[in-house]
Amino acid sequence: MRPLFTSESDVVYAMLAHASDPMHSLSTQQREAIAARVPELKVYKHCGCGTCPTVYLTAGEEPPEPRRDANGKAVPQGSSYVLTADCPGAMVLLHIADGVPVELEVAPFEDRTVELPWPDQLLF
Ligand SMILES: [Zn+2]
Repeated sequence: MRPLFTSESDVVYAMLAHASDPMHSLSTQQREAIAARVPELKVYKHCGCGTCPTVYLTAGEEPPEPRRDANGKAVPQGSSYVLTADCPGAMVLLHIADGVPVELEVAPFEDRTVELPWPDQLLF
């Protein structure tokens, strides 16, 4: 586990401040409460695909236990809210669960390598 790079936390803060919430379910107060917890976050896993800078985040001391379905198969951690924005060549998704960001996902539009955007490259 490691602390977030400033480049990562800057994107998280920008997403919390401006990114759209397709479900329109996050209030300004909730966004502020989530932003206040960003300094607690650590990166516990990187996406293994090799083409994106997606990181998985936790506010805990240990990486979260993998979630499993009834058959014991690992399933995604799941999230309560997703904030989305576009950046050059990719879509950025901030997944939020239990009041903290749990995944900063950068999903390339095509099959090519993308870097973490700068906050001013985000289109909301
Ligand atoms: Zn990836």
